[in-house]
Amino acid sequence: MDPRVSQKPEKATEEDKKKRRHKQRTKRTITRAVTHIRLIEANPGKLAALDQMMAVYLPICQRYVILFCTAETPPDKYGDPVFESELSDRLHRVAMQQAAGIAKSWRTNRENAYQAYLEDVADYVQAKAKAEAEDRMSAFKRTEPTWNEWHVPVLRVPVIQANANVVVVEQSKDSTFDYWLRVSTLDKGTPLRVPVKLASYHKQVLKERTINTSTTLHKRNGVWWLTLSCDEDVPLQTEPSAPVVGVDVGIAHFITTSTNKEYGSFHGKMARQHKRDREKRRRKAKLRACLEKKGASADKLPSTSSASGQRLSRHVKQEINRAVNELITDHPDARLIYEDLNVASMRFKARSMNAYLYASNLAHIPEQLAWAAGQRGMAAHTVWAAYSSQECPRCHFVDRANRPNQKTFKCVVCGYEDHADHKAAVTLAGRWGDRELAACRDKREVKALLLKRHDVWKQQQQQRIERADPPVQLSFWDPPEAFWDPSQVLNSSRMRELHRVPVVHPADESAVG
Ligand SMILES: [Zn+2]
Repeated sequence: MDPRVSQKPEKATEEDKKKRRHKQRTKRTITRAVTHIRLIEANPGKLAALDQMMAVYLPICQRYVILFCTAETPPDKYGDPVFESELSDRLHRVAMQQAAGIAKSWRTNRENAYQAYLEDVADYVQAKAKAEAEDRMSAFKRTEPTWNEWHVPVLRVPVIQANANVVVVEQSKDSTFDYWLRVSTLDKGTPLRVPVKLASYHKQVLKERTINTSTTLHKRNGVWWLTLSCDEDVPLQTEPSAPVVGVDVGIAHFITTSTNKEYGSFHGKMARQHKRDREKRRRKAKLRACLEKKGASADKLPSTSSASGQRLSRHVKQEINRAVNELITDHPDARLIYEDLNVASMRFKARSMNAYLYASNLAHIPEQLAWAAGQRGMAAHTVWAAYSSQECPRCHFVDRANRPNQKTFKCVVCGYEDHADHKAAVTLAGRWGDRELAACRDKREVKALLLKRHDVWKQQQQQRIERADPPVQLSFWDPPEAFWDPSQVLNSSRMRELHRVPVVHPADESAVG
């Protein structure tokens, strides 16, 4: 076997794991990407070999994407190749690895969205049954949630996420160029050699750092581009005793902290810009459909892709970066705890709005948070975020009904009330270091654990009542499950016994005091 075909790595030894844990405690590794390095064609037609390779590579990668997305079992990038191809074994393996990466994130996102859908259905069924039982179906207006199966990703841009087995970056010996790129092609044994010249800002980033062996090559508008990256270890600055700050990501405000601060918003100017952009696209699409009907040729039709949409997207990202920087400036010594949101779960958070656009932009917040904190050597951790918006911080009761609207959290059991985003941030902060919670394998286990804690809380309340301590305000108690047993509470002789306090006569006061 070709030793330069990627092999499944050996399992990490105890020693390796120990080293990794030590590093996690003391350093943060951040990866800087060096993008937009244009590949120069030293001789005309030289990059044709790259085009030829890509013409074979991309369809194979696409076939694996379909296979890995639709298979019963999770993608195995080290599995046996299943498609015939002109690619060398090394390139074939890289195509499989790239496809496995795409399929893995697609499967996770789809699964999360599907789970959210199932929860929606369960919620709907419950609400409907309740309406039926109470004979108010005529007022029941909710529509049953539906599931639209996701499309498997289509690779449109020619791109190869390469490793050193197929693309090697070599230091240039003369001063004309900075590096030489050696790229495997279809012609085995005849790699393509392409010179690389860096701009001064590229050089600045790479200065005195080692370039990672993984590289990306992609072609856009007829030009090939190279992306390099390098790792940097930043010593961890955060003290073990640093205050823990929870960070909730949302729509009304990009960021709400457990310290009750808010940063950035989609509302206002940006929302108006977004609305205009959507209307413009809709008009164009209408015109396009109309012209198509009349038989206009394809090249004369107006494009529906929107430059202003891209501009807006960039603007949102800039606003997010600004919000994250402000958060960090305000909490320089904190340990940040946040929710690692993916696009799918954000879509559900953004339910009522133009879900996808918001979602794809909001998912940038945790990324930016991790990056900005990492750069400063600040500790930032993600925790299980399941039910963080529904869990009551006082009694741990979990239910959608705890959220009467987008803005408000109000526990239907104990009556605890707070601004919803602030409450979520507090819950996230509280989840850091919660080993029992961290050990949960899925959302169902998270919910079961939280409801178990709720039962413990109920028992504690019962004991309090038995001791006749003033209980926490109990509102909307659910009768079937209630511990509330009037015979116990009102057992008058026991109550008197619990209430019995020594009677102190005025004359004895000095003796007691
Ligand atoms: Zn509660």
